[in-house]
Amino acid sequence: MNAAIVGAGPAGLMAAEILSAAGVAVTVLDRMPSPARKLLMAGRGGLNITHTEPLDRFLSRYGAARERLEPAVRAFPPEAVRAWADELGAETFTGTSGRVFPRAMKAAPLLRVWLARLGARGVTLLPRHAWAGWDGEGALLFHRPDAPPLRLTPDATLLAMGGASWPRLGSDGGWAPILEACGVAVAPFAPANCGVLIDWSPHLRNRFAGTPLKRIALAFGGRTVRGEAVLTATGLEGGAVYTLSAAIRDSVAADGEARIVLDLRPDLEAGEVARRLAAPRRGQSLSNHLRRQLALPPAAIALLREGEGPPEAAVKALSLRVTGTSGLDRAISSAGGLHWEEVGEDYALRRLPGIFAAGEMLDWEAPTGGHLLTACLATGRAAGRGMLRRMGR
Ligand SMILES: Cc1cc2nc3c(=O)[nH]c(=O)nc-3n(C[C@H](O)[C@H](O)[C@H](O)COP(=O)(O)OP(=O)(O)OC[C@H]3O[C@@H](n4cnc5c(N)ncnc54)[C@H](O)[C@@H]3O)c2cc1C
Repeated sequence: MNAAIVGAGPAGLMAAEILSAAGVAVTVLDRMPSPARKLLMAGRGGLNITHTEPLDRFLSRYGAARERLEPAVRAFPPEAVRAWADELGAETFTGTSGRVFPRAMKAAPLLRVWLARLGARGVTLLPRHAWAGWDGEGALLFHRPDAPPLRLTPDATLLAMGGASWPRLGSDGGWAPILEACGVAVAPFAPANCGVLIDWSPHLRNRFAGTPLKRIALAFGGRTVRGEAVLTATGLEGGAVYTLSAAIRDSVAADGEARIVLDLRPDLEAGEVARRLAAPRRGQSLSNHLRRQLALPPAAIALLREGEGPPEAAVKALSLRVTGTSGLDRAISSAGGLHWEEVGEDYALRRLPGIFAAGEMLDWEAPTGGHLLTACLATGRAAGRGMLRRMGR
């Protein structure tokens, strides 16, 4: 029995693990020169592989897709993800917010051990093989440099080509038109966990782009998130922004703009802020007064001048107009993908016998916090098991 896996990201590699453990001959093909580039990029800012929050809350992060993802995630829940990573030598730990990271923070050590384990089980990895659909006889077709296209007719195939964010890492959503041409419905891609666009003054843009705003709170649509944001030349990015970005994206799409509210001192009650600011200024500039009384950094003080009304009144509630979200090229993940109605119980595609799909290719989104990787690993595992069942294993 043999299987082809298209896409060497976490979903594809997890399916390769399941299949190879059952003695199936597995070939993993990827269009890039090396595997799992997005996973490696995810490790740059600290690889958050899963989360320790209660499972019900964890599952709620998948929103409308919860029902479909739940069986796979329950079968490979956060503690199993963690045990799996630990077995690969990651030595995970839980950060203050309940997020789980490998001790090395990066993905490279874990990936190295994982690939070695797959190699030892006979998994063949073929980089620089770009899937281009099927030929007239139903064989999978792969374009490769300096060689004629490769044709494969495996017993089962997994498509695990990711979403459409950070396309230069390999997942460019180029699979969507190929599947659509076969009558498979694909929901349009949209950026998820992305920055927001705000029209800053030249002063803020030129002096403070790249500056982090630590320990702030951001509110939108009835939700308030504490965390960190980063000022960019075009707006704001960072953890707190990503958490609210799906709701902001949908609101901008509906209304043309959205209003977010920033609290620059969430640890101080409004009354305390007012009391401190009422202290005599003794000839100090407003900036110095804000800095001394509230310990606000220069970027936060400059930001207060971007709102409407007096800066000192905006410390606890700075209203900012968002005109859009940053594009797919810089989003952490993407919404949209293969419609769930196309996907059967075992992650088999209803219209294409013997073809399975897993990972970010499917139509779901989740905030950062390890929920993305957990669902990719869990669906890769579920699809691998579905493929085994199809092959009678
Ligand atoms: C900057 C950044 C930080 C992130 N941080 C985190 C984090 O901390 N925690 C978290 O949970 N998630 C994080 N993510 C998201 C996470 O990395 C992705 O959700 C996950 O990698 C998706 O896994 P996947 O296997 O579905 O697809 P991918 O990892 O995208 O892999 C798909 C593979 O398919 C290949 N491919 C695509 N098209 C073709 C084709 N036509 N032919 C052959 N091969 C093809 C691609 O080259 C790629 O290697 C982050 C993402 C980014 C960009």
